[in-house]
Amino acid sequence: MIEQSLLLGRCAPARGLRRLVRKQVLEGAQRILIAVMVVIALTIAYLILHALWAPERRPARSTPVAAALTPTRALSARPTATEIAPSPTATKPPSKKIGIVAGHWGYDSGAVCPDGLTEAEINLAIARLVKALLESQGCEVDLLEEFDAALDGYLADALISIHADSCNIPEASGFKVARVLDSAVPQEEDQLVKCLREEYQKATGLSFHKHSITYHMREYHAFYEIASQTPAAIIETGFMAADRQILLGQQDKVAQGIANGIVCFLETDSD
Ligand SMILES: [Zn+2]
Repeated sequence: MIEQSLLLGRCAPARGLRRLVRKQVLEGAQRILIAVMVVIALTIAYLILHALWAPERRPARSTPVAAALTPTRALSARPTATEIAPSPTATKPPSKKIGIVAGHWGYDSGAVCPDGLTEAEINLAIARLVKALLESQGCEVDLLEEFDAALDGYLADALISIHADSCNIPEASGFKVARVLDSAVPQEEDQLVKCLREEYQKATGLSFHKHSITYHMREYHAFYEIASQTPAAIIETGFMAADRQILLGQQDKVAQGIANGIVCFLETDSD
């Protein structure tokens, strides 16, 4: 009995301790469990809130990317001319394209004087000088025959056909400039005629022979072959009898007058 009580006496405190330890372990586990549940609850709450807010935030973030993929945005996002334009000193502006028809060249002799001088040879010599003068000013120049295949739909900043009047009226002197009757670009062609008339008169001193501008000049075939938006004019540089000294002996002035007229037109046209 004593031994048993002693045994019990020893054992009773040990059982209490175990109970106490177990209680503390359970309480600790309970706290941990609560903490874990709180964490899980907070995580779920965060995920729910994230899911609710995300659709509203997504477009704001992704708009530039999504819109850039749409054609509309792609077009409007393209750099503007001013954004991609090089600085004025970086590159030269595109050169002006000019067509010069040497009247009758490649077709016939044109007017022929009693001494054999042909209009075609005068026209070609002047046309070549005009070409050289314009090229020295940076223009791109096509020297064209009277019925050149290139005239069909010809597109340029200007086209001038160079002719001369016959020896038929020995006393007649002066030059003429005309454009097509039914012009698609009347303002431009009037300006071209005005520039040619003023500059040619200044360079050669010849007078304007306006009363002999014929219907044939205004209905010149090349006017109806070239592109309608190409400003064009025909010039009769002088009469091969009375104005021969200028047409043969001062071709540099004749050519300079025509080239100056074209440059005058190009300058006013680009304003
Ligand atoms: Zn002619």
